[in-house]
Amino acid sequence: MTFTYEALPMRVLFGAGNLRQLPVEAQRLGLRRLLVMSTPGQRVLAEHAATLLGDACAGLFTEARMHVPIETAEAARAAARDAGADGCLAIGGGSTTGLGKAIALTSGLPVISVPTTYAGSEMTPVWGLTENGRKRTGRDRTVLPRSVVYDPELTVGLPVDVSVTSGFNAIAHAVEALYAPDASPIVSLMAEEGVRSLATALPAIAADPLDLDARTDALRGAWLCGACLGATTMSLHHRLCHILGGTFDLPHGAVHTIVLPYVAAFNLPATPAAEQALRRVLATDDVPGHLARASAELGAPRSLAELGLTEGDFDEIIAQVQAQPYANPQSVAPEVLRALLTEALKGTLASGVGK
Ligand code: NAD
Repeated sequence: MTFTYEALPMRVLFGAGNLRQLPVEAQRLGLRRLLVMSTPGQRVLAEHAATLLGDACAGLFTEARMHVPIETAEAARAAARDAGADGCLAIGGGSTTGLGKAIALTSGLPVISVPTTYAGSEMTPVWGLTENGRKRTGRDRTVLPRSVVYDPELTVGLPVDVSVTSGFNAIAHAVEALYAPDASPIVSLMAEEGVRSLATALPAIAADPLDLDARTDALRGAWLCGACLGATTMSLHHRLCHILGGTFDLPHGAVHTIVLPYVAAFNLPATPAAEQALRRVLATDDVPGHLARASAELGAPRSLAELGLTEGDFDEIIAQVQAQPYANPQSVAPEVLRALLTEALKGTLASGVGK
């Protein structure tokens, strides 16, 4: 067995009530003028964080949007400059963390991330920006948050539908990490445990969104799955989802949830070790079918058609997938991709699940 594993330099604080640690954490990093960022929907939480920070808050920017449109990134960069910020506090899901990364990319300002979904961006040096209908992504250590403050209490208000889809987004990181070209035993351990935590916690959250134990397990799983994404190269699934999100403006978590079973059905037969790991963790011989049914049973959208995609969009998607080389356990011919998209459009793998 040979492999390379490169640990990312990051600090994680995990625990219920941890938001209160923010001022100490900022002080520890020597940050005295933080720009506090959120989506419009999480403004109240951002204001609360700003109050906790007191003089260490230099301003608020509450316009974070999914897929980080370049206009939003520019506005946030200007807000950071105008406020004389020496760092950013991103409190929210992947959209807000992504905005913090967009600022860090051009300014080098350090980011503190307080994640409130399971998307996992806080654990990665991956940035994304959407411009002219194309989402560009890249890896740069500068954007890796210096400190991540996980507080499960902040996730009890995350609506069940977003909990489920961002949870499956996290599972997708782990699935692709298991068959990544730079997979390693340590990443596989994190991937298996991450999938196990989320697969157990998500049904419990759907049954009782206020269940703090389930919220804690899900957030721990999200951390592990995010760390898998940070440590490995993603494949076809992530390529497809970036295109569907960036060009067709489809919701990130829902797209991941719908597409994952179809990519898994294509890739897992070519990657027996990954398939074995997922069979073990999910206690099933049919990993793709299990993934599709489990998310549908929790109320997630089951087909790309439900999100508004049509067959007429396939040529553009296939052209973008093929435009640049990408990692995948096996090569993907355009007609295979079209067949995969056709199945995902219809949601065939979840078709047996009652509504
Ligand atoms: P999001 O950040 O857009 O959040 C979804 C919605 O939920 C928003 O309206 C937000 O205000 C709301 N919300 C978030 N937390 C909440 C809470 N605790 N309570 C109530 N409402 C809450 O969605 P997301 O799925 O977390 O992130 C998706 C984005 O993250 C995409 O742009 C994706 O590309 C990016 N992403 C990046 C990486 C990376 O490594 N770079 C990894 C995963 C996702």
